[in-house]
Amino acid sequence: MEQKVKKSRNTKQRAVILEILRKGGSHPTAESIYHEARKTLPNISLGTVYRNLNFLREQGLAHEIRTNSESSSRFEGKCPPHAHFHCTKCQSVLDLPLPPCLKELEWNGESDIATVNSLDLHVTGACRECGPAAS
Ligand SMILES: [Zn+2]
Ligand SMILES: [Zn+2]
Repeated sequence: MEQKVKKSRNTKQRAVILEILRKGGSHPTAESIYHEARKTLPNISLGTVYRNLNFLREQGLAHEIRTNSESSSRFEGKCPPHAHFHCTKCQSVLDLPLPPCLKELEWNGESDIATVNSLDLHVTGACRECGPAAS
């Protein structure tokens, strides 16, 4: 009985976290997912959020994004492979379409690569809001 209650609570937590990830575009950190999740689940802990994020990542339902200049990873839901633009001024992370030469179709063609499991491409600079870097 106890076991059953626990299980359904875990499922609920996971669903809430997945929902936050699926909103897309925002690339939240675990901390901001935690703050967002607490609006629905006031008793959720940061540790639980991390545990669920790890689980979702292992299941291929979440993707972890590591930027060079930030200590905490960002996360996003499952989506087609894309690159990330990271504004080093306001720290925003935007989605970028992959250049044609990096599309999986072409990798499987003439190159020496058999399969691609993950792709992690970061472009850094200043976003339109922040304008060109003053130097
Ligand atoms: Zn910016
Ligand atoms: Zn993204």
